Amino acid sequence: MNLEEAVSALASGDMKLRDAAKALDEDRAVEARRRALEARHDLDLSPLDGRLRGSEAENNVENMVGALEIPLGVAPELEVHGEHARGIFDVPLATTEGALVASVSRGCSAVRESGGAVARILKDGMTRAPVFLTSGVEEALKVSRWIDGNPDAVNRAVSSTTEHGELLDVEPFPVGRNLFLRLRLDAKDAMGMNMVTIASEAVAELIEGELGIRLVSLSGNMCVDKKPSALNVVRGRGKSVAAEVVVPRDTVERVLKCTPDSIVDLNVRKNLIGSARAASLGFNAHHANIVAALFLATGQDEAHVVEGSTGITTAEAVDGDLYLSVTLPALPIGTVGGGTRLPAQRACLETLGVAGGGEPPGENADRLAEIAAATVLAGELSLMGALAAGHLSRAHEELGR
Ligand code: NAP
Repeated sequence: MNLEEAVSALASGDMKLRDAAKALDEDRAVEARRRALEARHDLDLSPLDGRLRGSEAENNVENMVGALEIPLGVAPELEVHGEHARGIFDVPLATTEGALVASVSRGCSAVRESGGAVARILKDGMTRAPVFLTSGVEEALKVSRWIDGNPDAVNRAVSSTTEHGELLDVEPFPVGRNLFLRLRLDAKDAMGMNMVTIASEAVAELIEGELGIRLVSLSGNMCVDKKPSALNVVRGRGKSVAAEVVVPRDTVERVLKCTPDSIVDLNVRKNLIGSARAASLGFNAHHANIVAALFLATGQDEAHVVEGSTGITTAEAVDGDLYLSVTLPALPIGTVGGGTRLPAQRACLETLGVAGGGEPPGENADRLAEIAAATVLAGELSLMGALAAGHLSRAHEELGR
């Protein structure tokens, strides 16, 4: 079948979108689907004809018709003193929100003038929680005890599915006849969702075979994947990561045009009291803005902005200067797998020096997580400065949006 025949078969519905790749190679299948869509809707969809080829994105999307372009900016010269990320980084941020990159860039200057941001990973582990049907609490406890007593068998099941992933723990949550087992894996440089899901399936098969209980679902929603959750906030999911900086009073006054006390006061009233009154899970100004822009730029799973938005920002006046910190309890992030393979996203990871697997494995993802926390810190510093100085709407107006 040639391209024109495929376009008309797709447009008429005689051929399913997913079958285009059986008739054509994936690059031409993308063009055929897009042109069929144009014909069906009588539209010019040429803006979707991006540089990304179908063959490059085969593992990332189905029924591909093109690629979206999202503007990419850089927040320059963020100084990070992490355990893993050390140095000065130009941070790529993809966004359609005008003023965001300008604001984070201002935060980066303030952080740099302050001698850099300290960043640390507090806890690490990607989770999946299958749900099983038991006869009741008694059997659920029997299963939990069997898991505790047979770590070698459980570890063998996990390592039969992955070379890099390491099982950290299995936490049982019995509820009536339901047993949720929350498995946590060190996924090294992978964000780990596929890895922990495949490993969980092997563990579930082992448990079904040994104990005769039935797996209801490989995901039982206690993972908790892509849903706001107190469990993730308390226990962590992916990387739990923090960053802090002490900004001298002079820098606060000159760069942020306010005072340390005004930012501390704002943090209490807005990020703490306001968030508590709203029963928010995130006690911060705009962690999600920075997490989302960095996730898009570096090929992360963008739905994990849900977890990445649940951080806490603290501010204190210390000897007249401003101490500011961010703690992100659940940041699912990686440098291999998923969207990190795509050429533009990989280029952004290369800009940060963290593309692909690290040496030792896990090092690149740890670096990226520390850079992410420091970037969130820069974003919080700048927005809180703008709010404290009463400049928020002025900055948006000056930048024309
Ligand atoms: P993945 O795309 O499955 O890639 C991880 C793979 O990279 C593993 O096969 C691993 O091999 C290999 N690898 C090579 N070098 C590595 C290193 N240095 N560190 C770690 N692994 C290394 O990635 P994933 O992070 O597990 O999953 C991410 C994808 O899952 C995203 O596309 C996301 O959208 C999707 N996702 C899936 C689910 C789900 O339920 N399946 C849910 C949400 C999101 P070994 O395992 O053999 O070591």
